[in-house]
Amino acid sequence: MIKIAVRDIPSNGLDIDQSIPKEGIGLSDEEVDIRSLLSVKARLDKIDNTVIASTRIKGRFGYMCARCLEELSSEEERSYIFDFELGPTVEYVDLGEEIRQEIIMANPARVLCSKDCKGICPGCGANLNVEKCKCK
Ligand SMILES: [Zn+2]
Ligand SMILES: [Zn+2]
Repeated sequence: MIKIAVRDIPSNGLDIDQSIPKEGIGLSDEEVDIRSLLSVKARLDKIDNTVIASTRIKGRFGYMCARCLEELSSEEERSYIFDFELGPTVEYVDLGEEIRQEIIMANPARVLCSKDCKGICPGCGANLNVEKCKCK
């Protein structure tokens, strides 16, 4: 969880630098495959009734090719700007929850290892990128 108390944000802003497991912001294995700690760097500024959080996340994201089922992973860095409206009852801003939602939304439904991946033969199960079909 990355929750910041509004009263802890000084007038000249607050910097956050954390490395957390994905479970730390409520992401499960079913939702996303992240193979490293998630690095979260953010700058929070309180401006009138809003907290602006310029956020950068970094991590190694894992995928599986939709055709040949090969495992893939890539180091990715993403930037976001979140803003939180402050009301009289708002004591915390939940940065972790915003990041969680962005990561789920950005998770691609279908990934290919290369755009001309030959996939798996439905007959013999050979990975046609690396072996020949054994079907008669
Ligand atoms: Zn593939
Ligand atoms: Zn085959």
